[in-house]
Amino acid sequence: MIFQGLYNILDLYFNNIEMFYNNINNHIQDKIINSFGNGTIDKNQILSQIGYDDNYEPSAKIQSLVDDYIDNYHNLIESSYSYVIRDIKAVRGNQTSIEDIISLESSVLARLLEKCDKVAIFALTIGSHLEEMVAYLAENVMVLQATVLDAIGSGAAEQLASSVEESIKKLVSPRGLVISRRFSPGYCDWDVSQQEMIFKAIEKKTVDIHLTEEYLMIPRKSISGIIGIGSNHAIEDYNPCNTCLKADCPGRRI
Ligand code: SF4
Repeated sequence: MIFQGLYNILDLYFNNIEMFYNNINNHIQDKIINSFGNGTIDKNQILSQIGYDDNYEPSAKIQSLVDDYIDNYHNLIESSYSYVIRDIKAVRGNQTSIEDIISLESSVLARLLEKCDKVAIFALTIGSHLEEMVAYLAENVMVLQATVLDAIGSGAAEQLASSVEESIKKLVSPRGLVISRRFSPGYCDWDVSQQEMIFKAIEKKTVDIHLTEEYLMIPRKSISGIIGIGSNHAIEDYNPCNTCLKADCPGRRI
């Protein structure tokens, strides 16, 4: 009951904000509709990300806002991606040498890559338009709209990553090869500073992402990482989370 009351207050607050900024919102909708892009986003996932769960039905206005943004977000997307396929030269301890170009440091990765022959190294982005719109909404105190659009942007980047993964799979499968799950710097024991290795391997000029000194990618809605490739089918199922004891890890995969 306490939570339901809280959600009712939130709905009322968001509805008032929405009405107050109705004109601005119409302007934003126009901008969204006039851009370009493609894709489908899971509405329940967005509602869950902004704080609604199975026990509470959002108001019709919030449902309508999420529906509108899901219908039109792709107009703010300018996707680009780049990947290279390199040979794995050697795996020793937690170090994996990729040709003579880079060295990856992570035992979680090394246990995967010792079963692989090659690795696909990728970077992708949905561009900066969506996050610029999120910043604009936030600056104009349209908190719900900014939160919804930001969540949709994260979903869109994940969706693009899945498409890139699928394209790599299609490329290698006619040769009897399989691919692993995606791994990105910052997960498990793979330090985020290893972003440098990813960008060195793909030659960062091939995709429009800037890496800051703190190893953050700009635009923010970008994903980089690696996918193992080989003939050993065990790499398809490799999931370090199955044996990891870090129970509260937000990145845990099923
Ligand atoms: S739960 Fe999975 S993602 Fe999290 S640290 Fe363990 S192996 Fe890595």
